[in-house]
Amino acid sequence: MQCDIKFDFMKRKHHCRRCGRCFCDKCSSKKVALERMCFVDPVRHCADCSLVSQKEADFFDKQLKVLIAGGTFSVTPGESEKSEVMTCRLTSHHLFLLLDGETRFEVPVSRISSMQILTDAASPGDSDIHTYTSLLDSHFPPEESSRPSGIVLHYKQMAHTDTQQLRMDVTEDKKGPAWLAAMYKAAKMMKSSGDP
Ligand SMILES: [Zn+2]
Ligand SMILES: [Zn+2]
Repeated sequence: MQCDIKFDFMKRKHHCRRCGRCFCDKCSSKKVALERMCFVDPVRHCADCSLVSQKEADFFDKQLKVLIAGGTFSVTPGESEKSEVMTCRLTSHHLFLLLDGETRFEVPVSRISSMQILTDAASPGDSDIHTYTSLLDSHFPPEESSRPSGIVLHYKQMAHTDTQQLRMDVTEDKKGPAWLAAMYKAAKMMKSSGDP
């Protein structure tokens, strides 16, 4: 028990949804969104955890705003040589990436299996070589000089079992790199788990 209160049939115990420890009602009264575990609606937190989750939720909100605002990319589906300029934005309920150009399609966020951020290589002479930064690599953005230049997604369409690839490269649009950085940060937050 994490607080000194004596529990009996009248005094109920509650678990903090973040650290799992038991508290009385008063000590676990804060309700905060816990996005990383997909509790988008506020859930019960102990005092310590509520501060951490609130900070995370604020940060996550900021990334989501950027993602929903969208950016313009040069989009190459699958192994195709042809690319198309499209706007990409996250739908307001966070379920799909909506790509909109001459054609239009959706990528279900829950069906994205891998995500690689492409960055321009920083060293001179390597400028046309892309380095792949995996989602779990914590060194992103590596340096000021290496800005995200694109993203490669692998995903499955709803009710399909074959994996599709999608490549998006930044264009002149300044919102592109910011969108990619937000995508990376938001995805990383969603994936991280296991710590108290
Ligand atoms: Zn807690
Ligand atoms: Zn208590």
